[in-house]
Amino acid sequence: MEQIYNETKYLMKKYGITANKKLGQNFLIDEEVIQTIADTGELSNKDLVIEIGPGLGTLTQKLLQKAGKVICIELDDRMLNVLKERFFLYKNFEIINQDILKVDLQKLIDENKKEGYENVKIIANLPYYITTPIIMKLLEEKLSIHSITVMIQKEVADRLTAIPGKKDTGAITYTVYYYAEAEKILTVPNTSFIPEPEVESEVIKLNIRKEPPVKVKDEEKMFNIIKIAFMQRRKTLLNAISNSNIGITKEKIELVLQELGINPQIRGEALTLEQFAKITDKIYK
Ligand code: SAM
Repeated sequence: MEQIYNETKYLMKKYGITANKKLGQNFLIDEEVIQTIADTGELSNKDLVIEIGPGLGTLTQKLLQKAGKVICIELDDRMLNVLKERFFLYKNFEIINQDILKVDLQKLIDENKKEGYENVKIIANLPYYITTPIIMKLLEEKLSIHSITVMIQKEVADRLTAIPGKKDTGAITYTVYYYAEAEKILTVPNTSFIPEPEVESEVIKLNIRKEPPVKVKDEEKMFNIIKIAFMQRRKTLLNAISNSNIGITKEKIELVLQELGINPQIRGEALTLEQFAKITDKIYK
């Protein structure tokens, strides 16, 4: 821990950088955690890694030693000099100074795939203030990627890796489950960063599925129904949908639930993804 701590302090002093809270800057200083993240990516020189928010480059260094190429996307332009100088000798390092939410990732992947990489892997210690939009972007854009290995807030990790229909779920649980197989890798205390974040963290891995685990005619409509169910999660599914503005009557939903043998008093959070798929297909038949 001490070596990376000293290195981080040295780099911050040398380049006059103080951590910007607004950008979610909590720099990793724990060698074991950094090694675990890199190992979880199962990297080889045939892999293209996209790292979100490299910061001072502590994790990047490990990734560069194992991957064929590492493309970093960093919003804070103060980091550019640090990274360019630090990785001057690495031919497989590239940096893009942009907001991850605005990057056309599939275009970037397509341009680089021409160089012959077998797999694209996303790896990051994410800025926590935008964990959810980043994860949603990575999944919903249906990128041709192999896996996502990220450190995020433990509370969010619990939700992303929960099983639909069981506890700790949110609407995003269903999205993650639809696109990926999620696993928890490591719980990380706040002492593994400087400055220390207020919450505990967790490394998780999302292995992107080749096929979704359920079939549904219109996935956008299904996710909208899931969203509605979770916006009013204390209500029954029946009331949540019929009170929403999607124009479906209570009678219609009652009939659909009856046909599917689902208790009309059920709350959305108790439903599996498969049940949401069937309900959606029947509602919009
Ligand atoms: N990877 C470094 C580490 O582990 O020590 C830094 C991780 S820090 C938690 C998050 C990083 O994401 C910061 O470097 C921050 O500047 C960057 N960042 C914040 N918002 C971003 C955005 N919208 N797009 C790209 N990078 C962003």
